[in-house]
Amino acid sequence: MKLLEERILKDGIVSGNVLKIDSFLNHQIDVNLISKCGEEWYRLFKDEGITKILTIESSGIGIACITAQHFGVPVLFAKKTTGITTDKDYHSVKVVSFTHGNTYRVVAAKQFLTSSDRVLIIDDFLANGTGVKALIDICSLAGATVVGCGVAVEKAFQQGGARIRERGI
Ligand code: 5GP
Repeated sequence: MKLLEERILKDGIVSGNVLKIDSFLNHQIDVNLISKCGEEWYRLFKDEGITKILTIESSGIGIACITAQHFGVPVLFAKKTTGITTDKDYHSVKVVSFTHGNTYRVVAAKQFLTSSDRVLIIDDFLANGTGVKALIDICSLAGATVVGCGVAVEKAFQQGGARIRERGI
């Protein structure tokens, strides 16, 4: 995605080890650019029988929805919550965030994620991989197949990418 690389170089703002791309992804969204990302993921995964795009609230939702239009499948976004822990209707995993230093749970309704699903995980950033790992774990609980994972920006100097690839994804 040369287009995305060029846009990051043009409009991205680096502060410490954080990249701010609020002008086209994390606050204001350049729908045409993100749709090009969606097109690219579709090119890579179109023959994999994807039934669902899975992301995590909140910053993944926009990019996942735009991508899902190319696949013609629904988006499911896992919800971050401190409330639901043992509800029988939800798959729920505990997440310890390296980025924010807190603990929370991520839930997805059992009715929307099942063993017949073939899932493409989509997110904005891959840093330490905590968010994507939570989504993979939730798929495991549901018995759903993780076909692959697409993130707009992998921060390759952090451990997330290696952790996810070690799992064969
Ligand atoms: P993780 O460490 O779980 O891979 O990243 C968690 C979340 O933190 C990402 O989905 C993203 O929303 C946010 N994040 C991590 N690093 C950055 C960064 O450099 N810039 C921005 N804008 N968000 C980041």
